[in-house]
Amino acid sequence: MFVDTHCHLNQMNLDEELPRIREARVTKMIAIGYDLTSSKEAVRIAEGNEGIYAAVGFQPTELHSFQSGDLERIRALASSQKVVAIGEIGMDYHYEDTNKPLQREKFVEQIELAKELKLPVCIHSRDDAEDMLNLLKEERSKLIFGGVMHCYSHSREMVKSFVDLGFYLAFGGTVTYKNAKKVAESAREVPLDRILTETDSPYLPPVPHRGERNTPAFIPIIAEKLAALREMETERFAEIVMKNTKALFGI
Ligand SMILES: [Zn+2]
Repeated sequence: MFVDTHCHLNQMNLDEELPRIREARVTKMIAIGYDLTSSKEAVRIAEGNEGIYAAVGFQPTELHSFQSGDLERIRALASSQKVVAIGEIGMDYHYEDTNKPLQREKFVEQIELAKELKLPVCIHSRDDAEDMLNLLKEERSKLIFGGVMHCYSHSREMVKSFVDLGFYLAFGGTVTYKNAKKVAESAREVPLDRILTETDSPYLPPVPHRGERNTPAFIPIIAEKLAALREMETERFAEIVMKNTKALFGI
């Protein structure tokens, strides 16, 4: 059995996709919101499907759509039994017009919401390694319900810092890319009890499906690659990931 801890199920035809996902033995999925609409959609999908859970929140690159009162709307959505995390939230310095103070402000507000709701956080972090690490250290006392660094893309050297802060690290399709040596090195470095699998579908499909839309049905490919990097049997690795998922998200 496999688990996809980060997928955007609102961006695919789930009814069409589900048989293939089930056939791939992916039994648990977390549908991730990135703004208000997608968060609502993630909750709706989770409530209508067994084995599917939801995370709600505003991603840093979607803050242009944030309106006053949206934090309360996210809080209300999180009252669903199927919501298992606040996310994806974080910081992203990739684009030139990045409003760093705004990203930081909304990120911290959502970390505080997660603490209040006793939920873990799902963190999006791109091109911001130093600032992210410093912010998480400062906010450490609010992160008692843990979290995951989704689609981990920072250096192997920083793995220990995030792990020491209590974080899990999730890896997806990029671990199969030939030019992503750094990701593979990090995946080898993470303690086994802190590793998770995800697709971030419909983005970042694994080899040999690049150019296609990604789907949770590709999780076994990612798990196989991660297991090989760790010199383990895929089934054994998958069992450990299931255990880790339960420990962090309670599912
Ligand atoms: Zn995502």
